[in-house]
Amino acid sequence: MGEKKKGFFKAYLEFNVLYKILIGLAVGAIVGIILASCNVTALPAWISMFGTIFTRLLKMIIIPMIVGSLVVGASSVSPANVGKVGVRIIIIYLITSAIAVVIGLIMGSIFQPHAELAAVEKLAADAAGKVADTNVWSVIYNIIPTSVLSSLVSETVLQVIFFSLLFGMCLSFMKVSKDERIARISNTMFDIFDCLTEIMLKIVAGIMQYAPIGVAVLICEVFAKNGAKVAGALGTVTLACYFGYILHVVLVYGGILKLGGIKIGPFFKEASVPFITAFVTRSSNGTLPKTMQAADNLGVDKEVYAFSLPLGATINMDGTACYQGVCSIFLVMSVYGRMLTFGEMGMLVLLATLASIGTAGVPGAGAIMLAMCMQGLNMPITPGTTMAGAYAMILGVDAILDMGRTALNVFGDLTCTSVVAKKLGFVRKDAIIL
Ligand code: ASP
Repeated sequence: MGEKKKGFFKAYLEFNVLYKILIGLAVGAIVGIILASCNVTALPAWISMFGTIFTRLLKMIIIPMIVGSLVVGASSVSPANVGKVGVRIIIIYLITSAIAVVIGLIMGSIFQPHAELAAVEKLAADAAGKVADTNVWSVIYNIIPTSVLSSLVSETVLQVIFFSLLFGMCLSFMKVSKDERIARISNTMFDIFDCLTEIMLKIVAGIMQYAPIGVAVLICEVFAKNGAKVAGALGTVTLACYFGYILHVVLVYGGILKLGGIKIGPFFKEASVPFITAFVTRSSNGTLPKTMQAADNLGVDKEVYAFSLPLGATINMDGTACYQGVCSIFLVMSVYGRMLTFGEMGMLVLLATLASIGTAGVPGAGAIMLAMCMQGLNMPITPGTTMAGAYAMILGVDAILDMGRTALNVFGDLTCTSVVAKKLGFVRKDAIIL
């Protein structure tokens, strides 16, 4: 049946999403520049609607996606496996992710990537300042929701994260309960959340098929309003991200490998296979077999890497964390015409570190988490606003940013695993490299 009807639609679906989005970006930019040169600064409402639909679809997915993936992420940490190795792995995963956000913020502050978008959203900028103005103590206790349902409805991101993590952690204990009934119902509950996450990922994959059209329209609006000069900002944001990724590898991974007494040359040689695979596939999960093979070649005990690498592919995303730092500076500078305040930066470190737990190891997941971080900073990606246009600019080049960040995510999993394994003596006798 499928063979007979290989029309445009099927050919479109089969064509690589990465190229489709880049084509969408290019077409949108070219048409926008032509419109700007003819002094047409706005698109007719019926065309503009295609961009708004795209932003609404992305916003729709944020909350169910965080809930599903955080519950699954937190409950994948089986208490049976969290011995001294597990605890150390989790701590090092979280610390390196937090450092990655800081590196991203530093790169963002140095490069200051931004597009000078005409309509700086003054009103929204004032509202956006709210996060920094509130005092530290209230930020802390406000993480705890007084009503879970109202946190979900009002999309209060940190509260949703807090509850989802708590929920997931309890679930992980209950899944292995000695009480057969508790274990059974908990596993059913886990399956429900696992299924919820898979459904969300399917929806995201569908939205990504629509992304080229949405991105083209949103980018076209940005260029029509601001002219060709904003194009340079995309180059700067890409450069800032990649500098951040490289710095993280050299400083953080180089540093902990050295501290861990691991020979850097042979380690990098072995890590290059999963690194390149991740770069090309843009999926930590998809790269997992190669990462496991590399850990095995390095001489890490199977009982460690069989637990820590799948966990890392789920909760450890240093590249994604670094990207959040750079891109949120891009968005805030482009839309509100100012830098992030220190308060906002602190909040972002927290949000992006937690977001990395909730980022699925599949292509493009980090971009949804960027929308979540902006929501957490009280600067949501609202359809029809300048923010939606700026976010579309990031999405236009997101595939390129995703290649580097995924490679870093995978490299981080392997580095942390090897260092902890070596420190605690979980290496095979025949390990030459460790
Ligand atoms: N593609 C990334 C990964 O699989 C996640 C992301 O989009 O940041 O690790």
